[in-house]
Amino acid sequence: MSLGRKRLRMRLSPSVEAIPRSGIRAMAALAQGREGLLHLEYGEPSFFAPEVVRHAAAEALLAERMVYTPTEGPARLREAIVRKLLRVQGVQVADERVFVTHGGVGALYASLASVLGPGDRILMPDPCWPNAVGQVLTLGAEPVFYPLRAEQGFLPEPEAWPVDERTRAILINSPQNPTGVVLPRPILERIAAVARRHGLWVISDEVYDQIYFGERPVSMLEVYAEGTLAAFSFSKTYAMTGWRLGYAVLQPGMQSHTTKLVESCYSSSSMVAQVAALAALTQVEQAEIDAMVDAYRTARDRALELLDAAGRQRYVPEGAFYLMLPVPPGYSSDDFAQVLLERKDMVVVPGATFGQLSDREVRISLAAGADAVAEGVSRWLELSAELERARD
Ligand code: PLP
Repeated sequence: MSLGRKRLRMRLSPSVEAIPRSGIRAMAALAQGREGLLHLEYGEPSFFAPEVVRHAAAEALLAERMVYTPTEGPARLREAIVRKLLRVQGVQVADERVFVTHGGVGALYASLASVLGPGDRILMPDPCWPNAVGQVLTLGAEPVFYPLRAEQGFLPEPEAWPVDERTRAILINSPQNPTGVVLPRPILERIAAVARRHGLWVISDEVYDQIYFGERPVSMLEVYAEGTLAAFSFSKTYAMTGWRLGYAVLQPGMQSHTTKLVESCYSSSSMVAQVAALAALTQVEQAEIDAMVDAYRTARDRALELLDAAGRQRYVPEGAFYLMLPVPPGYSSDDFAQVLLERKDMVVVPGATFGQLSDREVRISLAAGADAVAEGVSRWLELSAELERARD
């Protein structure tokens, strides 16, 4: 066999090649090396993890051997998670349904990969957090996007979703990245009705469950108890993005199935992060979480005031820490994000990163703080007005 023919076999995985490029990375690359930019692109808290969490981890590192743990996570942590689900979500689940994972992204993967195979279809929002789309594509499954339109407050119309014999699941995310929308209970009930009618799983991404500005978000675990797999995380609530710990809530009887998957991927999640997570659940005062959420709320309110005063307010994000701003007519979100960078020295995420529909939007992060967000919204208003004047 010639070398040429041998080489032909060395292709890169087509399912990975099918994952779209990350617009967040592309913007970061454009901004690299430039001083004095206003950064509104990062989707992570700017706080330290609570002190008790850092102490618990530091002490454990000195006193204990860091070893593999049970794949599904240690019993004490899973019991603490069960208590948290009752306290925060108001749902009672058995310990065996809780699976500790590598971040919320690991919880999402554990859920998606436990139920989807090649050729299966899953209904997903457009806009959607792109990593979820990437996960579905690597499984050889097919995302079918349902629209979340700005003019409908970014809320879905479940009765209009195209369900066929290949559809197996629905992905929802509330509070949502990138819109900040919280799905109200009546919409969750309509989604559950569609799922029940067709016998579908609902994969519910609830990693922002404790970051909300009005009513507590309702968990899909409550509304569609018999078919929901839910993903949670320590990253956002406790400002622990780099610790990489989350958990999935599976259906009864699934643990050994998902154990095979997670065991093959990464054996078990990090032990030091598990110690930290247990401290987060058992020692962090609610007031400390509230203070962080208050900072995001203040940033949101400053943004909304400015938008309102300019007659440009379209919707009210009720959770997570993001706000979508529209792109002026005649621009794609990539082009507009570049003009914002060139002319206003600010970095945002082009909406195209989250789906086709949101090419009319850019995302800013409220986690950047109220002053930065207010400055960003002012610069966005100025540039939008300049570009609109130039068109007239
Ligand atoms: N789901 C959504 C909607 C997110 O925005 C993120 C992180 O940005 C995750 C899941 C993943 O969270 P983690 O950082 O815990 O993996």
